[in-house]
Amino acid sequence: MKIVLASGNKGKIKEFEKLMPNDEVVAFKEILGDIEIIEDKDSFKGNAIKKAQSIYDELEKKGLKDIIVISDDSGITVPALNNEPGIYSARYSGENASDKENNEKLIKNLNLKNLKRTGAFYTACIAIIYNDEVYTVHGWMHGDVINEQKGEGGFGYDPMFIAKGFDETLGELGYEAKKDFSHRTKALNLAKKVLDVII
Ligand code: IMP
Repeated sequence: MKIVLASGNKGKIKEFEKLMPNDEVVAFKEILGDIEIIEDKDSFKGNAIKKAQSIYDELEKKGLKDIIVISDDSGITVPALNNEPGIYSARYSGENASDKENNEKLIKNLNLKNLKRTGAFYTACIAIIYNDEVYTVHGWMHGDVINEQKGEGGFGYDPMFIAKGFDETLGELGYEAKKDFSHRTKALNLAKKVLDVII
């Protein structure tokens, strides 16, 4: 079964491909080219559904059927910073901000509150659309953020995130460590269960 990912994020696409080695996973851009989807909902779930529905509708317009569309909306939440960046994680430092710019903003805000290390969690919501039905699942990863970046592995906020039970950041540990317990892995494992039932 062909699975179209409603994401343009290279880090995420790589993770999805590794987590679903037996499925044909295609990024939507390969079929539809550039499409701008405005993430204007107030929850990860709302944005995940909007992304998947937008791509599903475009595929339908092209007459492409029997395709599963999967989207993921994710981000990091820091309770001590009024739950920032949350759903704004990708654009914390402005539209089209780089990971480095977003991390620098988070470091700045941690420093403004004299927080060297504080609790944080990643959330991933996966939306699946197949046969006009919408399904959603969530996964979380808890740990701490620190006010510096360490390591080159992972993507996004990984160089600042220390998962519960670890001493090093996900930037230092890299994808192999993260894949067993990440928010996306947990959500994807649930998504696989949904797919087993609906296909
Ligand atoms: P989305 O593409 O709108 O879901 O944005 C997600 C943003 O949250 C990314 O650009 C990253 O900044 C952050 N994020 C989500 N998942 C991860 C992760 O596994 N590691 C690091 N950052 C992540």
